[in-house]
Amino acid sequence: MAERVLTERAIEEYRITDEPFYLPVGNETELFEAAYHARLPVMLKGPTGCGKTRFVEYMAWRLNRPLITVACHEDLSATDLVGRFLLEGEETVWHDGPLTTAVRYGAICYLDEVVEARKDTVVIIHPLTDHRRRLPIEKRGTLLEAPPEFMLVVSYNPGYQSILKDLKQSTRQRFVSIEFDYPPPELEAEIVAREGGISLEMARDLVLIGQKVRNLRGHGLEEGVSTRLLIYAAQLIARGIAPIAAAEVALAFPITDDRDLQRSIREIITTVI
Ligand code: ADP
Repeated sequence: MAERVLTERAIEEYRITDEPFYLPVGNETELFEAAYHARLPVMLKGPTGCGKTRFVEYMAWRLNRPLITVACHEDLSATDLVGRFLLEGEETVWHDGPLTTAVRYGAICYLDEVVEARKDTVVIIHPLTDHRRRLPIEKRGTLLEAPPEFMLVVSYNPGYQSILKDLKQSTRQRFVSIEFDYPPPELEAEIVAREGGISLEMARDLVLIGQKVRNLRGHGLEEGVSTRLLIYAAQLIARGIAPIAAAEVALAFPITDDRDLQRSIREIITTVI
């Protein structure tokens, strides 16, 4: 059977050559580095848009490993991750999936929002996450041993937790878990100023709005405004949009459709700005 695998050049495309901007919030870089050297899989837990993806990019750069990211969704099958045979002319050619590529080349594989993936898909990562560290490629009847450099990282947002969408203990107990949250205000302002291209003073105002909106959680708001959204507001302001309008479209409308809540957020915005 013909076999085609990614060339070394293609895997090089997953390498992060420029240092990503990342401000450490606690001891997460040390923890991640220790887990990498101990060959332990890592789960990053926290709300959406709080810096998990940026952190993995930064760590991949720091550890000089290629980074292969997969956004998990409910149609994601084991085949999508592992690979498939495809007919090419007369030939049946094997194509590695992203997980197989990562194992083969000792990359970091980042499964973003792993809880979204189908249960039978999640199960295929199990043998990679214990002492076996190998990936069964059922369609080819082979086992791929993971080199020491391979690392599996998943992200998980406990805020979306429901009985239907929760990670099974048999899966979650395979990872060391690093907890993420929105960065503390002074750090978050620094991030928003830098990523959004606005002054630190303006960034502090946006962060203050963010904090107040986050306090509305539990009052009908499922999740607070993310650092990502604060940066969007900043980017609009940097392009000349009036701060109040920018804050409305980036901080009020995306997170809720409820008119009363939107009004409350608008009040927060106008008292701060
Ligand atoms: P998540 O993966 O948690 O959904 P991201 O990593 O995409 O979120 O974070 C959203 C944005 O917030 C990033 O693109 C980055 O600009 C910014 N960010 C959040 N935390 C940090 C941090 N500690 N250092 C630098 N940038 C950060």
